[in-house]
Amino acid sequence: MSKKEVLGNVASIETTGFVDGPGIRVIVFMQGCPLRCLYCHNPDIAFFNDEKTLMSPEQIVNKVLRYKSYFGKEGGVTFSGGEPLKQPEFLLETLKLCKLNGINTALDTSGVGENFEELLNYVDTVILDVKAIDNDDYKKLTGLEIDRFNNFLKSVQKKKIDLWIRQVIVPGINDTEENIINLKKFISKLKNVKKVELLPYHDMAKPKYEKLGIEYRLKDTKPMDKVRCNQLQKLLLSDNNEDNTITQTCKVKNKKCNKSTTHAC
Ligand code: SF4
Repeated sequence: MSKKEVLGNVASIETTGFVDGPGIRVIVFMQGCPLRCLYCHNPDIAFFNDEKTLMSPEQIVNKVLRYKSYFGKEGGVTFSGGEPLKQPEFLLETLKLCKLNGINTALDTSGVGENFEELLNYVDTVILDVKAIDNDDYKKLTGLEIDRFNNFLKSVQKKKIDLWIRQVIVPGINDTEENIINLKKFISKLKNVKKVELLPYHDMAKPKYEKLGIEYRLKDTKPMDKVRCNQLQKLLLSDNNEDNTITQTCKVKNKKCNKSTTHAC
């Protein structure tokens, strides 16, 4: 048991993750989240603070160490959720212990939390879910103001931590080229960005909401078209700036066109 006897409320642990951070990783999903994102696909973890498995930092690190031989140069542990920043004391102790044991650490987060300054000293990569960059859009999506996200990002930048940026793309909400161009400008001002990903919204969590008796607020929204999402990702990563648009087949004349989707050529 750690000196502070701090225990984490852990929803689950996945032992072989390939997408949530560099290399092969153990993913620790923490219970609870202060946000209420319209598209949350883990409402069972995020919207409830009930006790799942209570674990000490030592128990977590001992479990992670069993997989250390698979990590190679890049792999390690990722704390995800829910929102791991909701349990800052536990996170601080666990991250410290990870670093003492030579384990690479990543934090998969919305950036909404408190008391994160010290724990960030033990984080190698922050995987930041950028819900929106405008306060009104952010509030519509998450139910919260954007200020805490902005404060967190400032600290991450100050500490020069490697940054992965993610945004979930939802039809009718943020699947416009205008949004992508604004996101691109936003990212261009950030330092230490190692990866940028757009994730297509899906509705596979609907049955979970039904089972939990929670209203699924995007019931009229279709899953994001993956091809279109890839096009937007290309736009986001392209070298050109504001006036960059996606080449696609024009629905009117069935030919390639360089204008945006909503034009009539
Ligand atoms: S931040 Fe993540 S876990 Fe929390 S409500 Fe939003 S999508 Fe769900």
